[in-house]
Amino acid sequence: DWALDRAHVLHPWTNFGPFEAEGSLVIERGEGCWLWDAEGRRYFDAVGGMWCTNLGLGRADLADAIADQVRTLAFSNSFVDMANPPSARLAAKLAALAPGDLNRVHFTTCGSTAVDTAWRMARYYHAARGEPGRTHVIARENSYHGSTYIGQSIGKRDGDRVPEFLYRTEGIHHVTCPHLRTAPDGMAEAAFTDWLVAEFEAKIEEVGAERIAAFFAEPIQASGGVIVPPKDYLRRMAEVCRRNGILFVADEVVTAFGRIGHWFASEAEFGVVPDIITCAKGLTSGYLPLGAVIFSDRIWQAMAEGGARWFTSGFTYSGHPVACRAALEVIGIMEREEILAHVEEVGAVFEEACFGLAEMPTVGEVRGRRLMICIDNVADKATGRTFPDEVNIGKRVSDACEADGLLVRPIGHMNVMSPPLVMTSDDALRVADTLGRALRRVADEL
Ligand code: PMP
Repeated sequence: DWALDRAHVLHPWTNFGPFEAEGSLVIERGEGCWLWDAEGRRYFDAVGGMWCTNLGLGRADLADAIADQVRTLAFSNSFVDMANPPSARLAAKLAALAPGDLNRVHFTTCGSTAVDTAWRMARYYHAARGEPGRTHVIARENSYHGSTYIGQSIGKRDGDRVPEFLYRTEGIHHVTCPHLRTAPDGMAEAAFTDWLVAEFEAKIEEVGAERIAAFFAEPIQASGGVIVPPKDYLRRMAEVCRRNGILFVADEVVTAFGRIGHWFASEAEFGVVPDIITCAKGLTSGYLPLGAVIFSDRIWQAMAEGGARWFTSGFTYSGHPVACRAALEVIGIMEREEILAHVEEVGAVFEEACFGLAEMPTVGEVRGRRLMICIDNVADKATGRTFPDEVNIGKRVSDACEADGLLVRPIGHMNVMSPPLVMTSDDALRVADTLGRALRRVADEL
């Protein structure tokens, strides 16, 4: 299988380029938090698929619900004028769980198509209300918003936006990433928050509020290295949006459905009710592809009253009955098994154990919240100097973990973890311990 994969399957990040890798894992089976490769070796998946296998793999109740739905109604298109029970019920459930007045749902196929749709929806909203000039958006440096043309253009992590003909810059602006450690002049949290808000206001002034449709933000930047913003940052940015008629889009593709202990992080963790939420991943716990754009009644009304043109959007698989049934079952399990409370508990253990790794010789910073943690490796702890690319430090640490039966994700010089929410406190301690030993071995080798 490995030879077939090499011969035919494109892995753009690792086939070519700076992170070219000589891996050889063919994953054949998964159960709970564990994966088995083709040679029968077992790995604890602290990557959680990629922020998504929240309930773990191989659950019989999910498999049964999915199989039942396949037998009952395997497919029906719902983006024109038909409904199906799983998609209608899931939309109602999301409306009940979502913060504030977000009670309308448009289903997409994944996180990227949710972001793409949110971008179009934001622009449409303003046009429908007689402000067609609001076409620009503002996002942040170091963000990741998916792999469609627009998602990749709104996102701005180092290395994602090459070559430049693959994304657009026109009408898309970026403000500073709210990473306290990188604050200018070593500012403290409150001063840095003021600075970020002032920078945002200046950017709005420069572009012209009357030209801006939306501000996009992940409540916690995920693939950029788990950047938890200052406490008041999102609330204050949202206030600036509101004053300027700009829609606030919270990209909760990673943070929704329990990753940090809430259904949605924007309100529960940061006190903000967005105008639009994008989500995916944990929505089905990775069992089937599904994304959703959840938006306010106000936006719905603007669409309804918008006049001549309707909002043309929809995918063949919008509201796919099997994917929606999987999501309903996932949410049901999360409620029955009190997964959010479990995340509070195991997340506290995991945070503490991982934050303890800050003592390691190559660890510059440990960041994160609950089951979303990043280890940022540095060559020199005093100055924060990073390793040269050829050291490939993130990959070295991940390889050292892999040799010990643990999967953690390398992102450049960082290692990121998002284990299944169902892991136990013992698992959490074991993951941190194995990672600690790997960090020590790599430091000794360097
Ligand atoms: N937004 C965020 C915040 C993400 O982390 C991701 C995926 N990592 C996406 C959007 C894109 O989701 P998908 O890969 O399902 O298209």
